[in-house]
Amino acid sequence: MERLTALNQSAPTVGTLRAFRIGGVPVRLHFTFILLVALLVVTDLGHEGSGAFALYLLGLFVSALLHEMAHAGVASRMRVRTLEIVMFPIGGLARLERRLRPSEELWVTLAGPAANLAVAGAIFGWMAVMRQPVTIGLTDLLAPSDGAVLQRIAFANLLVAALNLMPAFPMDGGRVLRALLSFVRPEEEATRVAAWMGRMLAISMGLYGLVFSELLLVFFAFFVWLGATQETAASLGRTLTNGIPVRAAMMTEFHKLGHGDTVRDAANLLLSTSQQDFPVMNGDQVIGLLGRNGLLRALAQEGPEAYVAGAMDRDFIALEPEADLAETLPLLARAGRCALIMDDNQLIGMLTTDNLSEFLLLRRFGMEPAV
Ligand SMILES: [Zn+2]
Repeated sequence: MERLTALNQSAPTVGTLRAFRIGGVPVRLHFTFILLVALLVVTDLGHEGSGAFALYLLGLFVSALLHEMAHAGVASRMRVRTLEIVMFPIGGLARLERRLRPSEELWVTLAGPAANLAVAGAIFGWMAVMRQPVTIGLTDLLAPSDGAVLQRIAFANLLVAALNLMPAFPMDGGRVLRALLSFVRPEEEATRVAAWMGRMLAISMGLYGLVFSELLLVFFAFFVWLGATQETAASLGRTLTNGIPVRAAMMTEFHKLGHGDTVRDAANLLLSTSQQDFPVMNGDQVIGLLGRNGLLRALAQEGPEAYVAGAMDRDFIALEPEADLAETLPLLARAGRCALIMDDNQLIGMLTTDNLSEFLLLRRFGMEPAV
């Protein structure tokens, strides 16, 4: 049985490969990032100037990593551990062990773009000392590299810092805006404003890109839209659940299975109820959890007369009724599972992603939780 501890919270993001560790923080590569690198290697290596281009891309990767490490570094000064840094094609993501208070979020977020400005400043400073003239402009960034790698990296860092400081989700600037607004307005409203800005930014970038045939901009706008929507759902979820105990959202009426029940009994329950996960009991003790997938697998492999005890999952997630709902969100969302609510080893409720989203819906319409 799993308890809600740092152990299972630190389960890595799905679809990523562990690459290396830096300053004690594991850095993982998302599979889309690996695909992008493979694509670039196949299409660009062996051409003239590909050495410089590879160096430029490496410089961008290191810059993006420094950006995330800056977030992680400031977070660790506030005694918040970074669970992992995940690298995506359009940047990285530092996943922290807990959500930040607005005053913490402000500094942790600002550190990222500050790192990019520092990289650009260091390169331009070094060029000034060496009396090297700046020979390219911002518009040369997308052209295939013909050298001037350092300058390109410096300009790219300036651009990344500027983009990230735009006050809209999912950019760092959106978080800064939200943090600043939440000093004077309720957090939920601050989140909505930053999210609205993100969608407006995505729409204007997308339209501009379409009108002026800048397809890359349309592509980028699409990711901004996705990020704004996701970030909003996540932060609204956190805002609406923060400080509310798990007990307020849990289901208290549900069906259970006995350890002597068969897969056929479970399948009948699956059909006759809207429940998809069933606690398996031995007397009044929970011994496992049988989900819809496990049930179907057992049905296909062992037939309807097999016992549920052989098909159930013994590693279910157990939460305490007083645990903070906001802290359990990432756990449920990532695992896509259901958690059992246990009080003194007694099963008192269940929490599924379905009933959680209903709870959030009711909260959005102003229903106060029965605590
Ligand atoms: Zn950032």
